[in-house]
Amino acid sequence: MRDRCAEEHALTNGFLQGKKGLILGVANKRSVAYACASALAREGMELALTYVNDRLEKSVRQLGEELGAKTIAPCDVTQPEDIDKLVELIGAEMGSLDCIVHAIAFAKREELTGNYMEVSREGYQIAQEVSAYSLPAIARRAIPLMEGQDGSIITLTYIGSERVIPNYNVMGVAKASLEASVRYLAHDLGPRGIRVNAISSGPIRTLSASGIDNFKSMLDHIADRAPLKRNITAEEVGDVCAFLASSMSRGITGSTIYVDAGYNIMGL
Ligand code: NAP
Repeated sequence: MRDRCAEEHALTNGFLQGKKGLILGVANKRSVAYACASALAREGMELALTYVNDRLEKSVRQLGEELGAKTIAPCDVTQPEDIDKLVELIGAEMGSLDCIVHAIAFAKREELTGNYMEVSREGYQIAQEVSAYSLPAIARRAIPLMEGQDGSIITLTYIGSERVIPNYNVMGVAKASLEASVRYLAHDLGPRGIRVNAISSGPIRTLSASGIDNFKSMLDHIADRAPLKRNITAEEVGDVCAFLASSMSRGITGSTIYVDAGYNIMGL
């Protein structure tokens, strides 16, 4: 059954031809951002990718070249001038933007274990700044590039925003902020023709996920409890990202769409 679905997915028709997208958050091939970038490129979107620091530049450039990315530039979202320069560069090299995929998050490892009440002021601030505040910070700067062309902004969240997932702690609180930001931004940007949505992904083994204590038991729990009786793949998130970037989702904004094998509907 899954093989047949994968074959059907391979029969795509380039429904994002002529569109341009900025993807933030590719660290390596396991990144959710990479799966999103691959799905968007497969459907014909022209891409810009970012890397957060010199350490990641080489690998992100290599991945970007494989995906035919037009622009590959540095951007640490805690540095406002990095975002300014990025938007300026995209304006110069690509002219306009139809889509932004925001797939970045950060919390100090010591904040992702134990009791939430022990959260430090600094740990709280950095998780909020990178994982939540960066969305409006990027969106408002990119408006001039997106206005007037059916824009779509997509971010990545997790159900730890609305339910208690032990150890997710400060990141759950940051994701709650992020999801509220999606709604407020959707309200601000709807009149300008820009939609804003979140994908709430089930757990996927990535670099960031490896920082969460007891991640393996989360995967086992989902496989046991979710209606589809399995975990999801990053490619499944990428396909929903392509849908949200396309005009097929033109009536959807301010929403959180679950790609979690149905886990979110379960009460027990
Ligand atoms: P990932 O591969 O580690 O990606 C996270 C990215 O955020 C990395 O590229 C990271 O760069 C970047 N980042 C961190 N601080 C940054 C900063 N100051 N400026 C710019 N970029 C920064 O992990 P991922 O799992 O794919 O995460 C992508 C998104 O999906 C996150 O929002 C995450 O919360 C969300 N999500 C993941 C899961 C999951 O189970 N994996 C589930 C639901 C939602 P560095 O590597 O250099 O820090």
